[in-house]
Amino acid sequence: MPADILNIFKTIFGLITKYRDPELVTLIIDLQTKVQELTSLNIILREQLTLKESIRYRAPFFYRNDEKDPLCPTCWQGEQKPFYLVTAMDQDQLIGWRCPKCAFYHENCTEITA
Ligand SMILES: [Zn+2]
Repeated sequence: MPADILNIFKTIFGLITKYRDPELVTLIIDLQTKVQELTSLNIILREQLTLKESIRYRAPFFYRNDEKDPLCPTCWQGEQKPFYLVTAMDQDQLIGWRCPKCAFYHENCTEITA
């Protein structure tokens, strides 16, 4: 919980102890719990937004920022999870890209190896 909100609750608890009203104390504790939950959710949503803003589409894959390793389009478009694709090799020849998380497979494409 941010320090300014925590200080507000400390001040409120300091004030309400004078009145010794159990219902008021319970309501303030419930409110503090809800604020904590919303603060945690806000952090998660900000992280998701930052991740989403970092992903770019360059056919046929998605990339994070300026990275050269492609992300799985199935995982990104489905669960919004940024799993990196791995190369599928035949001896020393790149024959495709596959996702270690799902069944996605893409045969070799020259765009990402150029
Ligand atoms: Zn995948």
